[in-house]
Amino acid sequence: MLTSLSLPSFLRRFGVWSVCVAMCLPVMPAQAQINASRLPNLGDGAEVPLGVERRLGENIAREIYRDPDYLDDPVLGDYLQSIWQPLLASARQRGELTPELEQQFAWDVALIRERSINAFALPGGYLGVHLGLISAVSSADELASVLAHELSHVTQRHIARMIAQQGRQGPLVMGAMILGMLAASRSPTASGMSAANAVMVGGQAAAIQSQLNFSRDMEREADRVGYGVMTEAGYAPQGFVTMFEKLQQAARLNDNGSFPYLRSHPMTTERISDAQARQQLMPTRNPVPTTPMHAMMAARAQVLANPGIDGLRTMAALANASGLSAATKAKQAGVWYGAVLAEMKQRNFAEARQSLSRLQALAGLEAPAQRAVRLLGAELALTAGDAAQAAAQLESKTKAIPATDRATRLLLAQSRVATRQPAQGKAAANDLSMWLTLHPRDATAWLVQATAYELQGDSLHAIRAQAEARAMELDYAAAVDRFKAAQMLAHQLTNEGKLDRAGHIEASIIDARLRELERLRREQTLER
Ligand SMILES: [Zn+2]
Repeated sequence: MLTSLSLPSFLRRFGVWSVCVAMCLPVMPAQAQINASRLPNLGDGAEVPLGVERRLGENIAREIYRDPDYLDDPVLGDYLQSIWQPLLASARQRGELTPELEQQFAWDVALIRERSINAFALPGGYLGVHLGLISAVSSADELASVLAHELSHVTQRHIARMIAQQGRQGPLVMGAMILGMLAASRSPTASGMSAANAVMVGGQAAAIQSQLNFSRDMEREADRVGYGVMTEAGYAPQGFVTMFEKLQQAARLNDNGSFPYLRSHPMTTERISDAQARQQLMPTRNPVPTTPMHAMMAARAQVLANPGIDGLRTMAALANASGLSAATKAKQAGVWYGAVLAEMKQRNFAEARQSLSRLQALAGLEAPAQRAVRLLGAELALTAGDAAQAAAQLESKTKAIPATDRATRLLLAQSRVATRQPAQGKAAANDLSMWLTLHPRDATAWLVQATAYELQGDSLHAIRAQAEARAMELDYAAAVDRFKAAQMLAHQLTNEGKLDRAGHIEASIIDARLRELERLRREQTLER
């Protein structure tokens, strides 16, 4: 239907889209400039090379990273990773995640500040999760079932097949369509759209959806493979069943507004009967109980998705509900956690501390939950202006921070920088350097590191860290600007005889990185 449309006529035809997209994703005009003619021909049903799919994904991911509702929350990010990494390992073990796919794709899961229930897979191994999904599921197992389904769409190359089918439209229209669909999955209120607009957008979404939908067979395959991936990763099969039931119920209620997930993954009769057949084989159908850890992360997602004053007050008020002390430990943990965060965001620090002490008094929490409580306490101390106390709560003289614990590492570094003591800045920069050696794509860590260097008066390292952050957000033009600024500073310091040995090493890294980024920027410009 859209095969012969260029982007301008596409936007004219879907006029409402361009309005909606401009509001939800203010960067749409830039995205609209991706030039189809410069990318390799995607072919018509031919195999899409991994590199081409990755590049298309990068073009979309770059717009997502610039979206104000893209959220790098290290606490929720670690929770997501604690579920995502075992799924990746399981897919690897099963042979679905081949070494080539693993190496060429991003395997990056982004959090989107959105109340509606959605998760999506983009080309090139970029995935996204709405905060609404995390707060709606009852267990990590339910979340794992959705993530494993999305993962399987990628590993089974469903997205590549869809790109191939749409190949004649070129990446320009593909990228715009995918971004448009993402925009349409957002809550109307969050983007300021009127309800009438939202309905119209919903209608357009359906039209475009028919172009970009996974086929019924792809959905069944993603269920089948995803189920294998999640159960072999050690998640309870009931998580798949109860999640499926939730989606089915929402589909019956036609609740597409809060479940945009259903638009891209419709509950077909085939999927439902497959799921029922799987259920027959299950030893138990009892739902997986909610853990205190999951309840706290769901509460965090809910607070972060509803940052308005009404939402915060509602979350805080839950702590006053009668009968709370008789509720399950998980329920109590979730309510207290949400109340601390909601009071903290309103800067009601005394109330936040009260709820924190109730949370800390809950006995017998498992280790991940204890860590979440400790992080929350430090976050509260830092926000309330006591950086030294926040750092002290996270520091351990005896134990190193575990390799996977990004949230503790980042919050500790932020707390150290906030003390304004150069020695603390040095400790933060050293720790982050080690982290960034292993995780060079961590844009937030680069930004925190920049502040740590600034505190020590080390402008050269600080500017380079800022440049790296821009590069990792795939904004190569901004990265080149910062690298050039760093290069100029290095020349100036050399002329003044102020560059020490470490400075000379840094200067040569800056030269090499600038050349690399200029090459990437040229490629990016050609694709526009
Ligand atoms: Zn699906």
